[in-house]
Amino acid sequence: MKKKIAVYPGSFDPVTFGHLDIIDRASKIFDHLIVSVFVHSEKRHMFTLEERVAMLKKALKGKKNVSVDCFEGLLVDYVKKKKTTVVIRGLRAISDLDYEFQIAAINRTLYPEIETVFFMPRQRYTYLSSSVVRDVAHFKGDLTKLVPPHVAKAVAERGKNEKAELRSVRPAARRAVRARR
Ligand code: ADP
Repeated sequence: MKKKIAVYPGSFDPVTFGHLDIIDRASKIFDHLIVSVFVHSEKRHMFTLEERVAMLKKALKGKKNVSVDCFEGLLVDYVKKKKTTVVIRGLRAISDLDYEFQIAAINRTLYPEIETVFFMPRQRYTYLSSSVVRDVAHFKGDLTKLVPPHVAKAVAERGKNEKAELRSVRPAARRAVRARR
């Protein structure tokens, strides 16, 4: 029987327990899940592509039917290259729907065979996003309930480096550094 492969694309900047919840659910239904970090050159990220991939790999170590990859360009082209038609996305709240619906619809226009499958995380993760993690870290909040320990450590380290970077520049430049976040 043909293996059911699915692709879960995202920024994962950084990976959170919400993403891991979706990965766990999808990996129980599909034979193989490819978690793929989207390369978005115009967007400023807290972590580089390599760092995001490494953090995901560490978080998913031991999960036999899950692999981590990255891609640039159109999702539909990547999905075709991986010889599948299934894309996984997470739906936290109704507020995600508008955006996700638009993306799913445009992907289907470009590639009619594509199916976007949505998973709901457990309730406690419906408020969680990578940007919430970055904001909590900025104010030195506790990250233990939001991300795995190695991610919490990396986020806290990045925050410290950013503070040092901010101290070394003048106020106008400081605002620019902050705006990049
Ligand atoms: P974020 O919105 O956190 O920056 P990504 O671009 O990495 O996320 O998101 C990839 C996918 O994972 C999207 O479909 C997004 O809705 C979903 N997702 C992100 N966080 C969660 C969460 N806490 N629960 C469920 N799905 C989530």
